[in-house]
Amino acid sequence: MKVIAIANQKGGVGKTTTSVNLATGFAATGKKTLLIDLDPQGNASTGVGVYDTDKIPGIYQALSEPEHTNDFVLNTRIPSLFLLSSSSDLAGAEIELVTQKNREYFLKEALSHLSEDYDTVFIDCPPALGLLTLNALAAADTLLIPLQCEFYALDGLSRLIKTVDYVRQNLNKNLLLEGLVMTMYDSRSGLSDQVVKDAREHFGDLVFQSVIPRNTRVCESPSHGQPVLIHDVKSSGSRAYMKLAGEIIRKMGVM
Ligand code: ADP
Ligand code: MG
Repeated sequence: MKVIAIANQKGGVGKTTTSVNLATGFAATGKKTLLIDLDPQGNASTGVGVYDTDKIPGIYQALSEPEHTNDFVLNTRIPSLFLLSSSSDLAGAEIELVTQKNREYFLKEALSHLSEDYDTVFIDCPPALGLLTLNALAAADTLLIPLQCEFYALDGLSRLIKTVDYVRQNLNKNLLLEGLVMTMYDSRSGLSDQVVKDAREHFGDLVFQSVIPRNTRVCESPSHGQPVLIHDVKSSGSRAYMKLAGEIIRKMGVM
């Protein structure tokens, strides 16, 4: 089982969209895939068609009762794709965890009780470097960072990289950087090209070849409770996410 955390403390950079669509892309190849919605806003849950998340147990309950994690996993309408949903309780978890012993390892503990036949787990992190994100990084094998193709894309990245170093030194020495994915690329804007160029200059091959274009099919699909890969498989956004999933699967194959 490989665990991939998708994090960036900035909001609106494409974490949830990337989590939902990569998880769908992996599931489409027949891999048993679990999506964990670790953001109290619950956008990844609604993004795969799971509503009313405050009424159903999900990741919050799994953190509280890790030995029952399997019981809280939901089916989605997408074959091979499963969900541990978010709920508004999760906002409180950030505070409740502070006084706990081993407070960074609650998610890792929950995952250790999962049935062993999941191939891949994607964790959609909240837009903060708080305890929930630290729990994700402590539990993950790799980290995927979405960067929006806009002027401030690389701002704040050094703080995130410092957090990764902290996690490696203190919580999870094996954490790898899966890569950086450039999102919301606008082919009409020279700025988008410049941001991609800057990112490649700084991070070289860590930046995935697949760049996700800004595409209206992508931003309308959550209102249908569907990943864009289901909503409109032929859209430019879908094609880019399928390409990205392929890149990651190939990378995993050679590891
Ligand atoms: P985050 O989880 O980092 O806050 P989201 O994935 O929720 O970011 O994306 C922020 C907003 O941008 C959402 O409204 C989403 O639908 C939209 N969005 C994300 N990716 C794209 C894209 N490639 N094209 C158009 N809109 C996008
Ligand atoms: Mg999000």
